[in-house]
Amino acid sequence: MDIKPANNFLQTLIADDLRSGRVQEVVTRFPPEPNGYLHVGHAKSICLNFGLAERFGGRCNLRFDDTNPEKESQEFIESIQADVRWLGYQWAGEVRYASSYFQQFYDWAVHLVRNGDAYVCELNAEQAREYRGTLTEPGRNSPYRERSVEDNLDLLTRMRAGEFDEGSKVLRAKIDMAAPNMNLRDPILYRIRKAAHHQTGSEWAIYPTYDFAHGQEDAIEGVTHSICTLEFEDHRPLYDWFIEHLPVPSRPRQYEFGRLNLNYTVTSKRKLKQLVDEGVVDGWDDPRMPTIAGMRRRGFTPAAIRTFCDMIGVTRSDGVVDVAMLEHAIRDDRNENAPRALCVLHPLKLVLTDLAPDHRQVLTAPAHPTREDLGSRELPFTRELYIDADDFREEANKKYKRLVLGKRVRLRNACVVEATEVVKDTAGNITEVHAVTIPDTFGEDPADGIKPKGVIQWVSASAGRRATVRLYDRLFTHEAPDRGDNAFMDFLNPDSLKVVTDAWIEPSLADAAPEQGFQFEREGYFVADRYQHTPEQPVFNRTIGLRDTWNAGGGDQA
Ligand code: ATP
Ligand code: MG
Repeated sequence: MDIKPANNFLQTLIADDLRSGRVQEVVTRFPPEPNGYLHVGHAKSICLNFGLAERFGGRCNLRFDDTNPEKESQEFIESIQADVRWLGYQWAGEVRYASSYFQQFYDWAVHLVRNGDAYVCELNAEQAREYRGTLTEPGRNSPYRERSVEDNLDLLTRMRAGEFDEGSKVLRAKIDMAAPNMNLRDPILYRIRKAAHHQTGSEWAIYPTYDFAHGQEDAIEGVTHSICTLEFEDHRPLYDWFIEHLPVPSRPRQYEFGRLNLNYTVTSKRKLKQLVDEGVVDGWDDPRMPTIAGMRRRGFTPAAIRTFCDMIGVTRSDGVVDVAMLEHAIRDDRNENAPRALCVLHPLKLVLTDLAPDHRQVLTAPAHPTREDLGSRELPFTRELYIDADDFREEANKKYKRLVLGKRVRLRNACVVEATEVVKDTAGNITEVHAVTIPDTFGEDPADGIKPKGVIQWVSASAGRRATVRLYDRLFTHEAPDRGDNAFMDFLNPDSLKVVTDAWIEPSLADAAPEQGFQFEREGYFVADRYQHTPEQPVFNRTIGLRDTWNAGGGDQA
């Protein structure tokens, strides 16, 4: 295998495992619990697990860790698969479910009981806490710890049959109540739960814990490198204990890496759910959400997200990544790949009085300044246009490089015009600007040598189309909205969404396919909304501004 130099410790370690023959084929997995939509942190885990399999010619499974039926649903199962595919990965074989191994887990629980390695315990939650001890004090053995194998088997069978109430009994491993690692103090393997499961229906009245299921799921699937986030480091001895005490078909090993935390962002599923449930955002895929579905709807691209995951790397420590890095990756990708287009967000009519009322000239403009492969588009040029109200002033100093009364400006992809007159309503608001075109300035400087100061965007008033443009910005104003005692809901950015309903777009944009992205020149990067954009009623979402205005001190990209 021809392998590039390793750029993280997992790549190094796997290369060593292959070289030494400890493993023949690399098998990883991405194991989400279907209890919410995936977010940018999961994207890191996906890129890592699928990326390692790709790099070493192995395979990566998608496995739903569905041991917690109350919080899980089919909606999440479907969204997760769509998200992984959208990121550009394909799992090996069929989607897998922890729940399809429930019988095997149960058989293994029986195995532990028979070997005297597990027992049914009847301490209630409060007693169990007391018996467990603390970090500095050892725990005490449960009074139920020395039951006979026969009694334990009988009770476990009846737990499974649904004979007992929830909370009245649990199955525990018999390890060591004095172990310094609390995870080894007779951890719970099964709880009674009379809940229907989305995959297994009412077949089970007991459900395995994460700890009892996870490593065994890996072993069943022949996972060689079981990669998880650092908070599971203390669970590794337990993971290994199960693998050693059960007749599992393979011996996976667990490795931990630092989770992704992003400033200005919350990545807890519980908190994201709260944003959805309380209507702060418009669903899990609201473009302001750090979910994969939200980023997709915002116009982020799989390639940019993958690049970002590469950029941040994989380490053995937790840190906070600046969201500006993610935004930078998006801008880079969009700058390189997004076709250019003209859109006017705050339309002000510009009348070119030297043109005939029915003047119509069809200009051709390249879709991208350097990417010829992106082709060109047609721009109808007519007597009445819209320009942005911010691009005109009656008077201005030299720093203002747009249209000023009596001065010149270039219309992007078209000619130079000179403003001659301002029309106002009775309240004194400017309603129209009149101008004349400067002859022979399509692609040329004016012959009289008086060059325009700047270039502005425009759209034909008669041939352009009205559009809704949603200006999204960061959802939180605080860089650590949920750090410590911070109540993240207190830091919502009141300007995270501004909706412009009367923007004007060049006609070719109406034909954009849903999810097609563009640079609206001088405004930013935008995407045709995945669900709501139609040629009749175009809807665009702002992906990101052209520049980072947050780090420049301002909060407003509009
Ligand atoms: P919870 O288990 O509390 O519902 P979770 O974020 O751990 O939430 P899972 O569905 O268990 O969600 O996560 C699936 C995989 O994604 C796990 O392997 C987990 O380690 C990884 N993961 C989750 N959050 C992050 C993150 N912020 N950075 C990197 N990996 C993450
Ligand atoms: Mg988890």
